[in-house]
Amino acid sequence: MARAAKSSGARAFKMYIDGKWVESEDRDTFRVVSPASGDVIATFPKGTAEDAKAAVEAAVAAQDRVRDMSIRERARLGSRIAEEIGRNVKEYAVDCSLEHGKPLRESIAEVEDSVPNILWQVEDLKRWDSPAQEGYSKDHVLYVSLHEPLGTVATITPWNFPWVLPSEFVVQAMLAGNSVVFKPASNTPISAAHLMESIDRAGVPPGFINMVTGPGGEVGTTLVEHPLVDAIGFTGETSTGLDIAKRAGLKKLTLELGGLGPLIIMDDAKIGPAVEDIAFGCFTTTGHCCVANERIFVQEKIHEKVVRSLVDRVRKMKVGFPLDPDTDMGPINNRATLEKVEAHVRDAVKRGGKVVAGGKRVPGMPTDLYYYPTVVDDVPTEALFNKAETFGPTAPIFEFSDLDDAIEMANAPRYGLSMAIHTANLRVAMEAAKRLKSGQVCINEPVYSWDYFNPWGGFRNSGLGRIAGRWSLDAFSELKTVMINIGRSPWPD
Ligand code: NAD
Repeated sequence: MARAAKSSGARAFKMYIDGKWVESEDRDTFRVVSPASGDVIATFPKGTAEDAKAAVEAAVAAQDRVRDMSIRERARLGSRIAEEIGRNVKEYAVDCSLEHGKPLRESIAEVEDSVPNILWQVEDLKRWDSPAQEGYSKDHVLYVSLHEPLGTVATITPWNFPWVLPSEFVVQAMLAGNSVVFKPASNTPISAAHLMESIDRAGVPPGFINMVTGPGGEVGTTLVEHPLVDAIGFTGETSTGLDIAKRAGLKKLTLELGGLGPLIIMDDAKIGPAVEDIAFGCFTTTGHCCVANERIFVQEKIHEKVVRSLVDRVRKMKVGFPLDPDTDMGPINNRATLEKVEAHVRDAVKRGGKVVAGGKRVPGMPTDLYYYPTVVDDVPTEALFNKAETFGPTAPIFEFSDLDDAIEMANAPRYGLSMAIHTANLRVAMEAAKRLKSGQVCINEPVYSWDYFNPWGGFRNSGLGRIAGRWSLDAFSELKTVMINIGRSPWPD
């Protein structure tokens, strides 16, 4: 079991290396403080560079055994892990809400989502084909391309979706035939420990998947620079992704980075659904989402109507303790994000923007991290909202004149993870879909949209590579060509 003991209300968790639950080599720990209650809810080993190296050694020693596992056996393990997660959804979701701050129903949906997420790749693994081709320059040759695992993959994940993000990388890298070292975010490691419990209970052999907790600056960088790590699967901030790219050398990289998703509302759009999509994409998971609607672009003619209707909608939202059933939005997860939200609101106001809903912390809550869902109108394009990810519960409204104007504004900051347009005109929608520089364009849907199988990833500053469905298997493998001379068999005719 991951949990060793309950000490003064905080549970003491451990890391998982070579099939054993272990302390850090110097026995140092760090605390997990709930943003919802302010209580210390867990302690975790503060892993060191030595711990990271020990995990890599265990993973490297297991490499051949993972590679040699049949597809049938890998699929069986993947299904068993999904089954173990599915058995404990409620318990895991409560911990997720307490360490993250998101409402319980969102945590339940997130834990539940990791089950089909893993099962999708299990099914894709069973059907994972690769090309075979007859020779052109040499007509007695047959070329067969085989999927080859990379070796050992380090997966490093952020705090905003503590279940969905690891469950896009950790199990998938093993399904593709790799051994894995997993480093979760230090704000939300309880969910990671529960995922490892599920992996352990599913009977995944020692060394196949290891977990080291601790600071990105030590554990993360050690994994990134380690000469025996073959690939990095990273989700997190663009600035961290850049640091990883500089340190990683020629390791194979999958980088899922920040977004600055615009939602473009043309003046022929239906206002009701557009407003619902703004609220969903700005305030779900307190706006801590790579595909949040970070910027709302509204065409001149309907600007006033949209803002009025959005303000009415937002005023009905209840900010509260995440485990209360009537809570629509919980606290901001951490102080740095709260301060960034406040700085972006202040900056917009200084430049002429108007706070028309929220714009301050909620008084009388167990911590000062609770912040009202906020709408800022008339935000100018020079504002920070239009330059850097806010990652909090804000809807900054920008006005535009025509489609060219909106597309220029959307593409200008050079982020491109998910973008959306609302319009009644299919020609306009498809023109936008072509011209928006983004891994995903959503038509009459929120920026905040995804599915288990879409090739997921960003253009430009939003990352490198694609994951989800069979794309995760491709991300954690390479193609090896086997060239067979079919005219030179040594066997008798
Ligand atoms: P972060 O970059 O601060 O941290 C992510 C992980 O990297 C953590 O585990 C952290 O400990 C580790 N880390 C930090 N510095 C490191 C270093 N130098 N070397 C190696 N590892 C290091 O990101 P965050 O604040 O946890 O997450 C929020 C960000 O993640 C946002 O920008 C969000 O848009 C992005 N995100 C992107 C996607 C996507 O699919 N593109 C999904 C979710 C979140």
